[in-house]
Amino acid sequence: MAMLFYPEFEVVRNEYRCIACRVCERQCANEVHAFDSESGLMVSDESRCVNCQRCVSLCPTRALKIVKSDCAFRENANWHDDTIKEIYKQAYSGGVLLSSMGNPAPFPVYWDKILINASQVTNPSIDPLREPMETKVFLGKKPGKIEREQDGKLKFDLPPQLELSMPVMFSAMSYGSISYNAHKSLATAAEKLGVYYNTGEGGLHEDFYGYGENTIVQVASGRFGVYKDYLEAGAAIEIKMGQGAKPGIGGHLPGTKIVGDVSRTRMIPEGSDAISPAPHHDIYSIEDLRQLVYSLKESTEYRKPVIVKVAAVHNIAAIASGIARSGADIIAIDGFRGGTGAAPTRIRDNVGIPIELALAAVDQRLRDEGIRNNVSLIVGGSIRSAADVVKAVALGADACYIATAALLALGCHLCRTCQTGNCNWGIATQRPELVKRLNPEIGREHLVNLMNAWRHEIKELMGGMGINAIESLRGNRLMLRGIGLTDRELKILGISHAGE
Ligand code: SF4
Ligand code: SF4
Repeated sequence: MAMLFYPEFEVVRNEYRCIACRVCERQCANEVHAFDSESGLMVSDESRCVNCQRCVSLCPTRALKIVKSDCAFRENANWHDDTIKEIYKQAYSGGVLLSSMGNPAPFPVYWDKILINASQVTNPSIDPLREPMETKVFLGKKPGKIEREQDGKLKFDLPPQLELSMPVMFSAMSYGSISYNAHKSLATAAEKLGVYYNTGEGGLHEDFYGYGENTIVQVASGRFGVYKDYLEAGAAIEIKMGQGAKPGIGGHLPGTKIVGDVSRTRMIPEGSDAISPAPHHDIYSIEDLRQLVYSLKESTEYRKPVIVKVAAVHNIAAIASGIARSGADIIAIDGFRGGTGAAPTRIRDNVGIPIELALAAVDQRLRDEGIRNNVSLIVGGSIRSAADVVKAVALGADACYIATAALLALGCHLCRTCQTGNCNWGIATQRPELVKRLNPEIGREHLVNLMNAWRHEIKELMGGMGINAIESLRGNRLMLRGIGLTDRELKILGISHAGE
């Protein structure tokens, strides 16, 4: 049975503008465009187009447009076009549907239903251009009380901390799922900005050991590329228990992507599938997790904070409470809109909960139990702007992880087909001719620009509230109001409604 349905996108070529230079043909790794020597015209196979916008962006005469096809099945409020096409695809392939990047379904985005306060008359606002504003944050366990030496001097011995110049850093993306040049852009930008990037579960390429002071090394269930020097290389170690895009399941990087450097960095043979099991096979309880946390601390002489990353799921507050008691220094929570290089579509679109609700529930639970200072909280899973960062910090986060926003800064056009390995923007690919399309120096510059722009906006938003330091904003829910939310939602978020 062949898949017989009209392509999702149409290539619209303005024939008056097209000069048949064949740039589009060379730029499209999906082989949509071709030159027809008989007619002297460019032709298109639209069924292959994923709307990545590469050809549109590089066409020198702006002759191209990609539009969503308006060819539709008969209207049906229950059976949407996408649902029908998915049935056809599964009937054709017999397989699990795969997708990438974040959940695109129309669930509520709570960030867009939360408004930020501004000072008027009393508690005046602060002008961030003229007055100092502190955006630096430290992640790690904080002492529960002030302690002094016998001679009265303050004790400054703190457990290991991560110092960030601003409350944003780059989330885990493995070498293999993204390209060498994408990793290099992230590593060099993190160094320049005074923040961190995260290796993901693919090990650390030998060229990037020099950026260790700005690197978080990840230990996932597959333990790819994990050995003593790797643990030593990073500023912190992250145990990945779960991921927002695919909670409860493992990972799978196909053998076709395990080539050359990727295979060496992961320490697995070329061509073998890199399968991360769903669970860590040595962790079935908080006590087991504690053993891994302390093994990692022990092997790095208690010099590095240990992060435990989990997906935001239904009982996240209780899970976080357990992690805080496991000896971890930092908890990273990943919401259900978090991106990924490849995930089963059903999991991505139906499993997990929004990060906004998870964060509010976790922060409140840790406060209620008197253990909030035992851990720092990082949140990720679709942090899209400086306003989302400010709202997250006011809801209780110490810092945010960004990944999709960082990839957008590198040129990603969110076509959501990373799993094919044909990323025309040189990001989610290992094909050398595509990888070289991303210049890591330009990539670094764009990442630095994005983060600096957000830093300015964070300062402006804080200044408007009359707050001059991130520390004073953290958990300050009085600065937030909900709009159009139910009493139950407001209760979970711990904020009042606008007008109250
Ligand atoms: S896949 Fe991308 S480059 Fe190819 S035709 Fe579609 S938009 Fe253009
Ligand atoms: S990284 Fe590449 S393949 Fe993935 S969504 Fe972005 S443009 Fe598409």
